[in-house]
Amino acid sequence: MHTQDYIELENQYNAHNYHPLDVVIESAQGAWVTDVDGKKYLDFLSAYSAVNQGHNHPRIVKAMIDQLGKVALTSRAFRNNQLPLLAKELCELTGYEMMLPMNSGAEAVETAIKAARKWGYTVKGVPNGEHGQAEVIACADNFHGRTIMITGMSTEPQYRFGFGPFTPGFKTIPYGDAQALTDAITPNTVAFLVEPIQGEAGVHIPPEGYLREVAAICKRNNVLFIADEIQSGLGRAGKLFAHQWEGIRADVVIIGKALSGGLYPVSAVLSSKEILGVFEPGDHGSTFGGSPLACAVAREALKVLVDEDLFERSRELGEYFKGRLQRLESSSIKEVRGRGLFIGVELYPEAGGARRFCEALKDRGLLCKETHQHVIRFAPPLVIKKEDLDWAYTQIEDVLMNL
Ligand SMILES: *Cc1c(COP(=O)(O)O)cnc(C)c1O
Repeated sequence: MHTQDYIELENQYNAHNYHPLDVVIESAQGAWVTDVDGKKYLDFLSAYSAVNQGHNHPRIVKAMIDQLGKVALTSRAFRNNQLPLLAKELCELTGYEMMLPMNSGAEAVETAIKAARKWGYTVKGVPNGEHGQAEVIACADNFHGRTIMITGMSTEPQYRFGFGPFTPGFKTIPYGDAQALTDAITPNTVAFLVEPIQGEAGVHIPPEGYLREVAAICKRNNVLFIADEIQSGLGRAGKLFAHQWEGIRADVVIIGKALSGGLYPVSAVLSSKEILGVFEPGDHGSTFGGSPLACAVAREALKVLVDEDLFERSRELGEYFKGRLQRLESSSIKEVRGRGLFIGVELYPEAGGARRFCEALKDRGLLCKETHQHVIRFAPPLVIKKEDLDWAYTQIEDVLMNL
């Protein structure tokens, strides 16, 4: 079977909820993937930052296989010997007091909202009544996942159309506007949910000082500051968490994606005992969340980030690569922005959309993905070699100068 055969099968039997590039990957190692016809490509998306450690990192693969030889799933009805160690190691690495493990990023976002609402009723003193009155404020152009509750927070018409009615209790305000947060807060506001860098929206970095200011507004109003670091965290933006660029500490941090190095769906909410302590047995849970397999994989994935100093590596290589892109004089480029190896290249509308550039780059062996219409996101695995970045630059230069 060849590329076209797989594409036809997928189109026939799989729902069309994505518009993938027509490359059918069979295997991968580090920053490189190989398709079913034996062609190699450099991965410049990293599964939306799930494979920050590189594809199939040998240490994480080994930890996973070792754990598979013992036990994969116990359910939380019983205890296992990996969950306590992950909890301790993750809290020590991040400086939070407690964690709560889930599987997908969206589930961890839901978990953080549940924690914030219950904290609002039981600690802050928001009236609960029959339906509850807690409010959560989110930002325009956010991306927090695809469940119906989260979709209800979205301002993207396509994410919403056809999927209502939505969960009440959410407001959206413009991203990057601290005054809008002050104006939106009421006595019933329990949390402000924000991406420190908006990834899906096109790698948008808020104005300098914004995160510091909103963190202070939250503190003054006894509102929880929740940072969705699912994509921007764990080294992608050149630090453990992207919000640390402003020297602040979120009350609640949501992580996922690279927490497993891409080998298994693992997500988590990190916070204090006061906040995560609101959960009592039976309040919340997940069959697979906190499984020994998930925890063993996550423990090793975190160790790899630290041992290979991938936070610093992302910062250095990101500065280098962003600098090269910023010096590229292409009439298609409106702006190059980014932190660490999390880089967005925004094109002028006259360039005809980012998709055709991604397709041309694919033909030259570089895999990246447009986000919205006019932005190309560059987010290679953080283990990428400098010479591979330079090779990628040559392809990008060629396509942006000549297409
Ligand atoms: C990917 C992502 C999510 C959702 O994670 P899933 O694992 O796809 O559910 C949530 N927030 C951000 C910022 C993301 O990038």
